[in-house]
Amino acid sequence: MGASLDLAALRARTEPVDAPVNLAATRQDGLGCHSGKETMARAAAAAGMGETLDALKRDYPAGPHDQPQSMCPAFGALRVGLRMRRTATILSGSACCVYGLTFTSHFYGARRTVGYVPFNSETLVTGKLFEDIRDAVRATADPALHDAVVVINLCVPTASGVPLRLLPREIDGVRIIGIDVPGFGVPTHAEAKDVLAGAMLRVARSEAEQGPVAAPRQGRDGRPTVSLLGEMFPADPIQIGALLEPLGLAAGPVVPTREWRELYAALDSAAVAAIHPFYTASLREFEAAGRPAVASAPVGFDGTAAWLDAVGEACAVARPAVEAAKNRFLPAIRGALAANPIRGRITLTGYEGSELLVARLLVESGAEVPYVGTACPRTRFSEVDRDWLEARGCRVQFRASLEQDLAAVEDVRPDLAIGTTPVVQKAKERAIPALYFTNLISARPLMSVAGAGSLAQVVNGAMAQAARFAAMRDFFAGIGEAHAAGIWEEVPQKRAAPKRMPAATPIGETA
Ligand code: SF4
Repeated sequence: MGASLDLAALRARTEPVDAPVNLAATRQDGLGCHSGKETMARAAAAAGMGETLDALKRDYPAGPHDQPQSMCPAFGALRVGLRMRRTATILSGSACCVYGLTFTSHFYGARRTVGYVPFNSETLVTGKLFEDIRDAVRATADPALHDAVVVINLCVPTASGVPLRLLPREIDGVRIIGIDVPGFGVPTHAEAKDVLAGAMLRVARSEAEQGPVAAPRQGRDGRPTVSLLGEMFPADPIQIGALLEPLGLAAGPVVPTREWRELYAALDSAAVAAIHPFYTASLREFEAAGRPAVASAPVGFDGTAAWLDAVGEACAVARPAVEAAKNRFLPAIRGALAANPIRGRITLTGYEGSELLVARLLVESGAEVPYVGTACPRTRFSEVDRDWLEARGCRVQFRASLEQDLAAVEDVRPDLAIGTTPVVQKAKERAIPALYFTNLISARPLMSVAGAGSLAQVVNGAMAQAARFAAMRDFFAGIGEAHAAGIWEEVPQKRAAPKRMPAATPIGETA
């Protein structure tokens, strides 16, 4: 956990505020994931957060079932804040949630302080928590150190109506960005990234509308840019930049950005590429700034050709320039795909938002992909990829549950299951080779020529392990399963089913 704030000292010079706090929400200990989504949502609505929850529902629609199984959604927003230079991030929530979130962020190499404003029943009930948050923000908003302070309301403060909207918009030039990211309102951590990115873009847009703003750190070369929406492998923006060059365009910043001033540069683009299609709040800001959005991404031969056409149209590039770009890159992409074939049946599941792009690349490499499950929602920007995949016999499941992903592995019996941890675990139990999507697939280039051959080595290598998996399954058959599960000092014995108790004899009767 990061450095703690001297709240006791700060409290001494705090004047009370009449923040509307929902007392009923605090009367029981431990409102959290386990309290049930409905309980939390009812408490939040009663505490005056109905509008916030409605906005989240509109941006991140649930269904076909309620919520995919995933990590605490707030992790997405926390990670975006922690990755930005000169940005402080403060959590407001239950200690157990904050412990888990800070643990996970440091596990993923945050190397940054996570601020925390703790609370108890009293500070929550009296509105003191809001005062504590406000004091923490004041203590943190040092313009010599920070461009922005992000405050994230977790489940309990959101359900209790702790009103971050009443925080000052800025202190000494440091922007204060308060967001509610409750697990009962934001379905996935992927979408929580958009909650923060969208909130920041909104502030940056209003600053840019009011007057001059900071220029990009590396300056401008005069070419119009295409901003890129969604986190991606570091080589991908470079590949995209090379693709855009014959069009007279350059790659703009990747959103979520790594620095506040990049937000202005992102909004100052000719168009935005919705590489990850679920950034609904961010896309709304680009739309408000008059920037057209382009769906999908330059993956594989078809994807790159269609993407160049779409970017050319959005940025009013002359046709010959678009054709020149296609002539330059498409043969190389075709060559890379042909030189790195993938033969086999693969199921793919994930929660990052790039699942459909990876599936397209696998199909173009020669793989059969009968199922793609993604925890992310279906949006108008995912339609191009969905149509392309479905036309090639792939079932695309948005908001996929773990059960649906596991059922697909059982039904399809793939040569390789690419997926989340529980999917990979299940597949390996069945002696089906499996790869973690996040660690092994997301950590590779996907775009343009570099992406075209990048998956074959790891995918083919994994599929080649099928015989070893079968040998291991046979060798370990029956060990650690059913009655033998657990740790035993002696060889575990299968016991007969317990005998049924004889029916009790009523008092006063004899057997
Ligand atoms: S903040 Fe995250 S971990 Fe905490 S109760 Fe909400 S969803 Fe669960």
